[in-house]
Amino acid sequence: MSDDMRNIPDEQWRETLTPEQYHILRQKGTERPFTGKFYLHHDSGMYVCAACGQELFSSDTKFDSDCGWPSFDRSIAGNVTLHDDHSFGMHRIEVNCARCGGHLGHVFDDGPRETTGERFCINSAALAFKPKE
Ligand code: FE
Repeated sequence: MSDDMRNIPDEQWRETLTPEQYHILRQKGTERPFTGKFYLHHDSGMYVCAACGQELFSSDTKFDSDCGWPSFDRSIAGNVTLHDDHSFGMHRIEVNCARCGGHLGHVFDDGPRETTGERFCINSAALAFKPKE
């Protein structure tokens, strides 16, 4: 697998991702809150990109927010990129996989004060989980 997957043609993602994954990762969709498979998931391990497998978030940084999506107070350093997002008349910071460019969610500044103060609000469908051995 190439280290930079940001130029993979759209047709290839359409073939390899499920329709829900494609909608979120490639079309910047958002899953309905409180429905994602990782919202109330508390196992120990690593959350990776559902598209390319890059490690994105450790379970150690996951916290219970009541927002309806999996929430983390930080990413694996260097493995996500942040971009200004002005869609829907709001200013938000979009979070993408640094390797494949897939849309993951957004980051907000209302996370836990005792750690980073950040809340990475991430779609379950953009993630896969690798349990700790
Ligand atoms: Fe990725």
